[in-house]
Amino acid sequence: MNEAYTNNLLMIDLSRKTHEILPTPDALTEDFIGGKGFGAKLLFDSLSPDTTPFSEDNLLMFLTGPLTGTMAPAMRGCVVTKSPLTGIFLDSYFGGSLGAEIKYAGYDGIIIKGCAKKPSYIWICDSHIEICDATHLWGTHTLEANRLIKKELKDDTVKIATIGQAGEKKIPFSLICCEYNRQAGRGGAGAVMGSKNLKAVAVKGTGLVRVHDPAAFKKACQTAVKELEKSADVDALRLAGTASAVEFANEAGLLPHKNYQFGTFAKASNIADNGQSKHLWLGSSACMGCPIRCSKIGAVRTGKYKGIVTDIIEYESAALMGSNLDIPDIRAVAHLVKLCDLYGMDSMSTGTVIGFAMEACEKGMIAAPDGIDLKFGNVDAAEYLIHAMANQENSLGILLSKGVRQAALDIGNTSEKIAMHTKGLESPAWGPRGISGMALALMTADRGGCHQRGFTVSYELSKEWNNHPLDPLSPEGKALMVAHLQNYSAGTDTLVKCDFGSFGISKETYARLLSAATGKTYSPDVFIETGERIWNLVRMFNLAQGMDASTDTLPRRFVEEPLPDGPGKGHRISKKDMAYMKQEYYKTRGWDENGVPLDKTLKRLRIDYVRPDQ
Ligand code: SF4
Repeated sequence: MNEAYTNNLLMIDLSRKTHEILPTPDALTEDFIGGKGFGAKLLFDSLSPDTTPFSEDNLLMFLTGPLTGTMAPAMRGCVVTKSPLTGIFLDSYFGGSLGAEIKYAGYDGIIIKGCAKKPSYIWICDSHIEICDATHLWGTHTLEANRLIKKELKDDTVKIATIGQAGEKKIPFSLICCEYNRQAGRGGAGAVMGSKNLKAVAVKGTGLVRVHDPAAFKKACQTAVKELEKSADVDALRLAGTASAVEFANEAGLLPHKNYQFGTFAKASNIADNGQSKHLWLGSSACMGCPIRCSKIGAVRTGKYKGIVTDIIEYESAALMGSNLDIPDIRAVAHLVKLCDLYGMDSMSTGTVIGFAMEACEKGMIAAPDGIDLKFGNVDAAEYLIHAMANQENSLGILLSKGVRQAALDIGNTSEKIAMHTKGLESPAWGPRGISGMALALMTADRGGCHQRGFTVSYELSKEWNNHPLDPLSPEGKALMVAHLQNYSAGTDTLVKCDFGSFGISKETYARLLSAATGKTYSPDVFIETGERIWNLVRMFNLAQGMDASTDTLPRRFVEEPLPDGPGKGHRISKKDMAYMKQEYYKTRGWDENGVPLDKTLKRLRIDYVRPDQ
């Protein structure tokens, strides 16, 4: 019996309309702790390389960690599946309270396979599991589906994950909306849900999460909260969420402008915390029990989009739907992001796709639809494309809804030069020209180009990591930092923690929380060790899906075009620098020159069973 776990995994087969509750294996908790670790192991064990993302055999997993549902601050929930956008491993995180509710219902995770014969939703109330008809919900947007299910269940306190119309149409960058304003946004988990004819998962739990040593756990929680209070980064998040990063990225020349052609935007402050505070915010809000309260509630108060209720516009959405499209009015950006949220499309990928389309049209690679002036800065054109993609309305909407990688392949010619993605995942809003470590992190991130798998920006700009001096422009000496940050991120994602919490909470305190909760003694090093194990397991999974060293790369723009503005002006990540960083990284990780983990590395990590020939 593992305390802090429910020791139950709920397996649901939509094809057979059956479910079973299996014990959470000790081997899973011992070597993989929870969350991302559970997802990596279960996906690796369950999927064969020819399992396509939309096949019945693909798993859609809602996972928790041992601290989920406890008093530990800044915890979230996690979705793991095989991504339809990249064809490789996907882990995507969501805030709010659904993760905790899954634990209260008695499960460490909900694992869904199969495909319902007709639109359905899953209703879980403790041990009551029901697959309900959702035919009447098909075609509704995310928030409407949430509202209707609550009404149907006659319970406003049920926590619900829904997809919108985009997920129903299997648009590969569809998200899962958890409650009203928290999304598992990246990589297309919503499309996998749609492929299973699954409109929603509704959960209500009435149980409690036990911890082994409540007194020690309470003390560790108090330490965690104190660490959060002392952190300047957390303080900034409490004041202005991630919106404050807009001006920071702009000053550093990392802010995408016009499909990443530029790294600065003269009107950045309009879409940053200044503009958001003036035009949108009314108060702060938080995920369940989080003392950071990085989020906002608000509404557009003036102008054409007056009346739209909105959350904070997070940095990534503000940048990719704002500066990237040359749109300086945060009210218009709020409108576009809200449309994405309602349709259930990732606003990051959507912004990048629209930026690609605007540049492609300006360069004559695609034609604008009749009556649409498809150029940067045109809010109406951006809105048109969101509707066209979500509703599959015309050939351009259908083309772009495939994601930027596939759209460029379909268009052909030179459009691939302006397609901003790595492994199919549209680039995040941190252009890496001028900070080579971030380039390496994007090249090697396990779910495709992602800034949250080793965020090096602040270390590189301060020219120091872990007492090592750093030259942000040099390709040398970046591998150790990137691998370490990736391992730590993967290791602490087993707790399903919020990344912002880890700005303040130390590894020692995470280990104390974990030890007090489970009754086992964990050293702070457990996160690096477990993270490295997960990273290598996911690498083996991704290689088996057809990924290889050639896909550890950057969008061609970052390689071929020097940055024209900002402090990094004149810099790019050359092919030579990419090759150098890759080989240094592979060596640091104990992989061969093709990026394949060596047998001795897998053995050291106790995952040598993942070799296909063993
Ligand atoms: S820091 Fe923000 S996103 Fe993270 S758990 Fe707290 S409120 Fe949620």
